[in-house]
Amino acid sequence: MSVWDRLAVFFLAGGLLAAVSLAIMWAGGLGRNGDSGDIAGEGAATPAALQASSPGAGVTATPTPAPTPLPGTPLTGPFELPILMYHHVAPALPADEFQARLTVTEDAFERELTYLKCAGYHGITMAQMFAAMNGAGPLPPRPIILTFDDGYDDAYTSAFPLLRQYGFPGSFAIVTGFIEAGGPFLTWAQIREMADAGEEMMSHTATHIDLGASDDATVQDQLASSRDTLQTRTGQPVDFFVYPSGEPFRSGSAEREQQVVAMLGQAGYRGALLAGPNSLTQDPAAPFALNRVRVSGGEDIYTFAGSIGGPDPDIAGC
Ligand SMILES: [Zn+2]
Repeated sequence: MSVWDRLAVFFLAGGLLAAVSLAIMWAGGLGRNGDSGDIAGEGAATPAALQASSPGAGVTATPTPAPTPLPGTPLTGPFELPILMYHHVAPALPADEFQARLTVTEDAFERELTYLKCAGYHGITMAQMFAAMNGAGPLPPRPIILTFDDGYDDAYTSAFPLLRQYGFPGSFAIVTGFIEAGGPFLTWAQIREMADAGEEMMSHTATHIDLGASDDATVQDQLASSRDTLQTRTGQPVDFFVYPSGEPFRSGSAEREQQVVAMLGQAGYRGALLAGPNSLTQDPAAPFALNRVRVSGGEDIYTFAGSIGGPDPDIAGC
């Protein structure tokens, strides 16, 4: 082999080595970019792109944009997902006007569940929404969350059987002190049975205090004790919180909102729900200020459908 031949072999081998090294670096870089544990925003698809690829889009006259991310793709921007806010579900509307507004009859509730099922909605829990937000799992088409505030006993006697019948999970905001005091509220045995059946329990404080008007020590105590009690009683993680009367997000200062959000995080909560304001938009950048849509007593199915941006019940045949 001449000197020139040896040089040629040397450069060929060196070139191969360099090519292999480059290929390894390239593959490694791809792997890092595709990791769901990525820095927020980097390499993630935009919500608009996710919504455009929704299987439910274009099926009916007025489709609801539904985020259906690929597994491992965190949601980094605002997206639409209706979170319904119920209070009572009962056999009949009560005579008292205030209570009647908070009460959806069993017939009306069943009509709403029939509509949701027919229109292609899929009930999910808060935990499932947060998993999708963090890129840990896809959402079904037209996801929706049904929440029930205050832990009334009709959550077990009226709402729970209908939820099971139609295949929708419920997320229940429990005031732990109300349960312990008795009255027209759920019992711990009922809460346990519902949790065992897949219903999601959330904290609504220990005594339904106004978090904007209470001192820090009281707020911290109620956030921690209600979560501890619920976790012990259900044997399930309790990661989500519902602001009593929506405070401090209705009449508190921006500073108080920030303080309460910080205390929620310190107490181990991952997200919290407002008492309104009838918006479908959820922002992953503000997990402690998630929007809900109020379902009022006496509203018809057209109003209900409109409130969640769903298809017209007549046109959709639902
Ligand atoms: Zn409440």
